[in-house]
Amino acid sequence: MSVRGQGEDLYASSSRAVFAIGVDVGGTFCRAALVNQDGDVLNRTSVTTQIDCGVDGLIASLSELIESACNVPFLHGATKGWLPVGLAIPGLIDGRAAILDGAVVTRCVNLPFLEGISLHEELAERVGLKVYLLSDITAATWAEKRVADAERFVHLRIGTGVGCGVYVGGELQELARSGGGHPDILVCDESSRAVTCPCGLRGCLEMYVGGGRFDTSDSGEVFLAAQRIGAVISRIDASFSPERIALGGGVIEHTPELFLAIRKSRQANERPGEAIVSIVDKARLANDAGVIGAAMLAAYQNRQSPAL
Ligand SMILES: [Zn+2]
Repeated sequence: MSVRGQGEDLYASSSRAVFAIGVDVGGTFCRAALVNQDGDVLNRTSVTTQIDCGVDGLIASLSELIESACNVPFLHGATKGWLPVGLAIPGLIDGRAAILDGAVVTRCVNLPFLEGISLHEELAERVGLKVYLLSDITAATWAEKRVADAERFVHLRIGTGVGCGVYVGGELQELARSGGGHPDILVCDESSRAVTCPCGLRGCLEMYVGGGRFDTSDSGEVFLAAQRIGAVISRIDASFSPERIALGGGVIEHTPELFLAIRKSRQANERPGEAIVSIVDKARLANDAGVIGAAMLAAYQNRQSPAL
């Protein structure tokens, strides 16, 4: 296993006071970062996710990743011992997206061996730090909201999987999940031909636009995908009236035509004289959103219930 590290000094002007460690477990990559209290990444590392090594292999890999993220000259051992860790997983925790003490992973379609496991407790034992468990979309939404300058904010993430996080009324919202997995807001097809997602939701967006579900070089398929995503954006507008909706994830980032088609179809659907409900933007933090949000939420949670 090789760990890629970058001893970066991107934020020379920002505080080097390390605040927390963020870890983002993905279906393809696991990432870790040291984050300061402004949400700046001070050091980041990543490694290919070892899906065939089970929980023990993943814990070993994450522990090495954290060690590598902390391997910077300005971080002293005594400080490191106090750092909270936010562990973001691509799934649900006790049926929710939020942090819960003593929680277990209940849904993790891409990494099913994590289901029923208190992954954060096992990692905490291994690394000797306080670890908080949360879903990756919760982490990414928290981080993107901080840079979006919007009080009513929605993050729609389309990568291998899809996810949606909503921040309104001063807090992250728990979304209705009648299928037990993805939230109902992600239904993009209500026709009789709608397919059911492994998450339990019929017509779930992931089945139509998740990574590998359509040919991103075929303009007709890209147009259709934009229509599906547009249907979900309309639901989001109707349910939450956000000021901004930030679209992120690998499929959005690597398919510029898709983002343009989403914007175009949105303009075409606007009725004359009607105010634009929300601004649809690209998410700004790319691959860092998960680790930044996980670190910031862990630090936030740690202030409510300190480790020691
Ligand atoms: Zn689904």
